[in-house]
Amino acid sequence: MDAEPYLRPLPKKDPVNAPFWEGTAAHKFLVPKCNDCGDWNWIPYPACRSCLCEDQSWTEVSGRGTVMSFSVVHRGPLTFGKDPYGVVLLELEERPRSLVVLGNTIDMDPEELKIGMPMKIVYEDIPGEDITMYRFAAL
Ligand SMILES: [Zn+2]
Repeated sequence: MDAEPYLRPLPKKDPVNAPFWEGTAAHKFLVPKCNDCGDWNWIPYPACRSCLCEDQSWTEVSGRGTVMSFSVVHRGPLTFGKDPYGVVLLELEERPRSLVVLGNTIDMDPEELKIGMPMKIVYEDIPGEDITMYRFAAL
């Protein structure tokens, strides 16, 4: 049986975000890290939010974190597939600046979500599309 078509909206790649999507394709979560002060800058921005330095390098992070906040969507857009699903703000373990990443859960019952719960970033290669999405799964 053929896989069902992927109907969710997909992000648009451009020259600025290309390194990030090349990272997810390799199942790595890359975040701009300031080459001056060493701070992480998520979401990506042309200058470091701590020192305004524009010299940053895409750097792999652990992908491990804890749930800072979440929502369980019981009636989402039809293209988002089966309800319910979880939308999570995951605070990654990297420091000193908190990296809080927004994403959807996968392979878990979202009713089990709890603040402070450990989770990790996992990757979903989208069939028929040249993109790999990131999701959050329970550790
Ligand atoms: Zn900086």
